[in-house]
Amino acid sequence: MKAPAFAYAKPRSLAEALQLLSSPGAKALAGGQSLIPSLNMRLSSPEMLVDINGLAELQGIRVDQDAVTIGALTTHAGIERSDVVRKHLPLLAEAVQHVAHAAIRNRGTIGGSLALADPAAEYPACVLALEAVLLVASGKGARRVKAEDFFKGLFETDLRAGELLTGVEFPVAAKGERSAFVELARRQGDYAIVGLAARRAATLRLAFFGVGATPVLARHAAAQQTLRKASEALARDLDPAADLYHSAATKLHLARVLLERAWNAISTSH
Ligand SMILES: Cc1cc2nc3c(=O)[nH]c(=O)nc-3n(C[C@H](O)[C@H](O)[C@H](O)COP(=O)(O)OP(=O)(O)OC[C@H]3O[C@@H](n4cnc5c(N)ncnc54)[C@H](O)[C@@H]3O)c2cc1C
Repeated sequence: MKAPAFAYAKPRSLAEALQLLSSPGAKALAGGQSLIPSLNMRLSSPEMLVDINGLAELQGIRVDQDAVTIGALTTHAGIERSDVVRKHLPLLAEAVQHVAHAAIRNRGTIGGSLALADPAAEYPACVLALEAVLLVASGKGARRVKAEDFFKGLFETDLRAGELLTGVEFPVAAKGERSAFVELARRQGDYAIVGLAARRAATLRLAFFGVGATPVLARHAAAQQTLRKASEALARDLDPAADLYHSAATKLHLARVLLERAWNAISTSH
């Protein structure tokens, strides 16, 4: 199938992009790795694509004293190659290894992935585990949204009409902080069947994905002192739906397998 007809605009500044996005039926085009297939399958029919590629304001990875800001247009490959990410955001450095295949990693962006909010995607769980803040802009101004408030439902986020994600702000990993990223997928680079982004800083945060419409913070499990108790408590946090290949019980079992792997990794890593 071919995409339905749409107008195309390539703004030269963020201000121009926001102005174009304020018209009804306009949609941002980033890496196009999810949007273009969805147009070709006629799952989406925007009136105008606003190509945000090339907007300098959305590029780059910057570290300030206690925060790393990643521009929305940073590709998965750019995150993978970043020394700043490796040094200050080890969880994200691990997670990006699981995001799609090389060709897609060269074009797909962190902003596109978070805005899409696929329930089986890696970054949404990472931003939850890392207590990141999503930076949002529109013609009316800018706002900051905590990761915990951003994911609203299946492919649904807090982004409102005309808003653009401009970047993500992560606290830098504290001294002694430990993290682990684990997932089960049919093949390396496929979307996860179940995955877990785990981080132990002042407290433990366990962000599961592939287990519901949005990533889920397993608060009961994270509050336990032993793996056995955490594993039992997980049933109170997760209520996975069956998918085409896995029953709900299997998904919960796989989540427990990942919990054990992450728990052990965090307990023994340095
Ligand atoms: C075969 C295949 C395998 C994949 N496997 C994985 C995987 O394992 N894990 C994973 O996480 N992803 C996977 N992906 C998706 C990939 O990571 C995409 O790149 C990503 O989800 C979307 O990023 P994009 O930059 O391509 O966005 P686009 O496709 O350009 O846009 C996606 C959506 O986000 C909106 N959008 C884009 N940027 C912004 C912004 N800055 N602000 C507001 N809205 C915006 C668009 O309007 C659109 O609705 C896979 C894709 C394919 C085709």
